[in-house]
Amino acid sequence: MLRRRVLNSAFGAGHSVRSLSTRASNILSKFSIRPDAELKGVYDGTWRGSGEVIQSVCPTTGEVLANVRTASPAEVQETLAKTREAYVKWRNEPAPRRGEILRQIREALAAKREDLGALVSLEMGKILTEGVGEVQEFVDICDYGVGLSRMMNGRVVASERPGHSILEMPNPLGVVGVLSAFNFPVAVYGWNLALSLAAGNATIWKPSPTTPLCSIAVTRIISQVLEANGIPGAVASLVNGGKEVGEAVVESPGVELVSFTGSERVGRIVGQNVASRFGKVILELGGNNASIIMPDADLSLAVPAVFFGAVGTAGQRCTSTRRLYLHRQVADEFLGRLKTLYGSVAVGDPLAKDTLLGPLHTSTACDVYTQAVEKLRSLNADIITGGERYQRDGLQGGNFVQPTIALPKSVNPKDGIWSTEIFAPILNVAIFDELEEAIEWNNAVPQGLSSSLWTRDIRNVGRWIGPAGSDAGIVNVNVGTSGAEIGAAFGGNKSTGWGRESGGDAWKQYVRWSACTVNFSDAAPLAQGVSFAS
Ligand code: NAD
Repeated sequence: MLRRRVLNSAFGAGHSVRSLSTRASNILSKFSIRPDAELKGVYDGTWRGSGEVIQSVCPTTGEVLANVRTASPAEVQETLAKTREAYVKWRNEPAPRRGEILRQIREALAAKREDLGALVSLEMGKILTEGVGEVQEFVDICDYGVGLSRMMNGRVVASERPGHSILEMPNPLGVVGVLSAFNFPVAVYGWNLALSLAAGNATIWKPSPTTPLCSIAVTRIISQVLEANGIPGAVASLVNGGKEVGEAVVESPGVELVSFTGSERVGRIVGQNVASRFGKVILELGGNNASIIMPDADLSLAVPAVFFGAVGTAGQRCTSTRRLYLHRQVADEFLGRLKTLYGSVAVGDPLAKDTLLGPLHTSTACDVYTQAVEKLRSLNADIITGGERYQRDGLQGGNFVQPTIALPKSVNPKDGIWSTEIFAPILNVAIFDELEEAIEWNNAVPQGLSSSLWTRDIRNVGRWIGPAGSDAGIVNVNVGTSGAEIGAAFGGNKSTGWGRESGGDAWKQYVRWSACTVNFSDAAPLAQGVSFAS
């Protein structure tokens, strides 16, 4: 039963507690979060928080899950200082020992996988399997970090001078500020934490102000491991808060690397701020991802993949499919089959087993959705399905919107309806005749995160992944735009920010590279044969 009212406290007369639905309180109790308590949203070895209060609101029901005290301006500075102190100790731990701590964090997270996944689902609104999958992603990247801790190798470079050796050495970098978005409230932090800890850095995490509970739950799990090993908790600090807290982290000269995940709008500000103080930055910004369907595509695979890409996470993944380019020969059949899937989507409580479509994260996101649909209608787009908020029983308390397929009149990718990321389940469709045309449309938008081509023809594959192919960071073949593994570097180009996180060579950004020329001879020759003798 979902209800919001003040009850007499079960903990004694005179107190009052908010009554949460059983659904919510069962999950929160797994993390000892009591509905009447005000949670501390700052951690740097001790838990505190004396800034403004933010509320965690359940997107499914609208109930307030908890109140969280954010970091005051002074607390942000204190936490930054504590994080640096922790770094100075942590950097001296041998890398394999750091890996051992990461292994323990991995075990602690895995033990809480289902509970934490349910908390993600409750607070963010994604369906349970995706919430659990997000925790699994954190577990996976910890495994990766453990391996890296024994493989973060530098190089020995041949010197042109006799008796000299040149080493390229990876050293710890310093403090890494991680600013994350609401839609991956656990995994994005995991990508950064695992690499950063293995590299010998300390992190300070500024999560989204709308998912504070996930950040507190994760930090509690990690801090217990750190403290049990006698490692300063501020190796993995947390500062909850809004824009001001984010700005303070971004502007701090004591933060060597800012890893920012969020919108293009905020990323532009963050990028400029970090550049103005010559800091390092990783930007993981908005996506506007296309799937291209060729006539020889296997539709039994492609249709469900586009369905998942566009409707999964209610269209709130950076890699969600937002544009669909159909070859004329298969357009009708594809759209017919896709529409059938849309019609069958199970919408409701994301924690319920059969649900495929949960709510949008906030009511503001519903307004963005409504305005986008209105804009499409005003441009005479054909709304093939969807286009409204759900009004039926059981859904009114939440932010539920119908997944929408639209066929705009214009196919010009420069038009706003095509070139803007709308963070909601709206899929725009256009029909093409030649692959070159579809690739041109794919590349013509400002963003460059994920892209997907469906074909069985190896010649199309060659064009798609080659120099004249997709300009996105993720270039898939017979795989949808959404849902990446941790092993490859993840990120996008152009206004998606050029950042790379997670696998591949991403770890190389989290270290300070030292080029060390060591002379073990009895002479001191200059390079390039330069003579400076008097
Ligand atoms: P957002 O840009 O509104 O917020 C992101 C973070 O920035 C939050 O923690 C926020 O509090 C903070 N912030 C806001 N103003 C700031 C400022 N001036 N200085 C410093 N920090 C500030 O993004 P959102 O709505 O939470 O997330 C959705 C966006 O994130 C979408 O555009 C999505 O595509 C993108 N995203 C990208 C990736 C990727 O890997 N490319 C992954 C997930 C989400």
